[in-house]
Amino acid sequence: MLVEGRFARRPTRSVTLAHPVNPVTVGGDAPISVQSMTITKTADVDGTLAQIYALYAAGADIVRCTCNDTEAAEGLARIVPRSPVPLVADIHHQHKMALAALDAGVACLRLNPGNIRKPEHIKLVASECRDRGVPIRIGVNGGSLDPDLYDPEKGVTPEAMVASAQREIAYFDEVGFDAIKISVKASSVPLMIEAYRMLAEVTDHPLHLGVTEAGPLPGGLLKATAGIATLLADGIGDTIRYSLTADPVEEAKAGRQLLEAMGLRERTGVDLIACPSCGRAEIDVIEVAKRAQAAFEGREIPLQIAVMGCVVNGPGEARDADIGIAAGNKRGHLFVRGTNVAVVPEDEMVDALVEWAEFIQEHGVERALAKADLRAAKEAADADRAVLLDEQGDDVNASEARVDLIRKRTAAST
Ligand code: SF4
Repeated sequence: MLVEGRFARRPTRSVTLAHPVNPVTVGGDAPISVQSMTITKTADVDGTLAQIYALYAAGADIVRCTCNDTEAAEGLARIVPRSPVPLVADIHHQHKMALAALDAGVACLRLNPGNIRKPEHIKLVASECRDRGVPIRIGVNGGSLDPDLYDPEKGVTPEAMVASAQREIAYFDEVGFDAIKISVKASSVPLMIEAYRMLAEVTDHPLHLGVTEAGPLPGGLLKATAGIATLLADGIGDTIRYSLTADPVEEAKAGRQLLEAMGLRERTGVDLIACPSCGRAEIDVIEVAKRAQAAFEGREIPLQIAVMGCVVNGPGEARDADIGIAAGNKRGHLFVRGTNVAVVPEDEMVDALVEWAEFIQEHGVERALAKADLRAAKEAADADRAVLLDEQGDDVNASEARVDLIRKRTAAST
């Protein structure tokens, strides 16, 4: 549901992942955070730190590292003080690795209730976390569901995934621990959506969203986006992770871009829009859009920037963009909020776009319009538009000619 133009979020409690510079609160009124996970051996301290920094630069607020053996725990002890973001230790099977990760100083644990099942182990870890003020994510996974809850006839069900999370919460309750986040991930999008919706009905703990094992690009991106975005639009979800078979930097970028696209995080980078091209295009729109994307990659310029194939329709179709470029008669026409501001040679289009975007970022749209020779730009745009309309007509895609043909045929057959 939209409230004042934004998706309303379900009220939740919050937990905070400690960090001396960049602590992250999950849930409550905190911005929805982006997570990813390293794919290095955690014992490789320098390699893991390099990946954590790359993830941070790509937009990750929280990073998870596996803690699967003593060497990994020792690696974490060396990584934690140098990490730019709070670290979560991923724990499976061995509760002792959870205790070792706490000794390493991690900001959060992820426990899989499907494979750490002895109540005394679970309660011991929760007691340690309670005493140290470290939250735990209960990470239910459809693929490693607690065998007691698996129904051989029905397979993995949303009810069983929610029951697994609730069983873990009950153990935590017994030792007075409630700094909890929960995930109920599955590789099936419908299953995970239903499981999260059911979970949101029965708990107010913050939720970590994800489609597990979503797979390689581009299908993995689509699957993860279908699941995560559907829930976010319902107001469900406080932190997200894309699980892609790809460089984890792609996960962080995707998470960030999804939240920005849905208006759930402030934009930090460029929102590049481009026309799909058509018979009117005066340039290879795909190629120019790719060059523009590369030129703005990683730049903190939170503007909407348009690449349009023709000056006939481009400035009008992208009139809401902060700045754009449209091709016409071998020239690039720059426009700011739909107003033509300059004309440049076609091969300088992208450079000019970057230069004007930097100017707008620093001085604002008004100053950009004030510095432009609007009359000259309009005359040039009108002239090029007129040439193109003269050459191509105003029905370059032959739509009206096709409509005429259809009308003639259908009239002839009646
Ligand atoms: S009319 Fe121009 S701006 Fe619109 S899709 Fe075609 S080339 Fe792009």
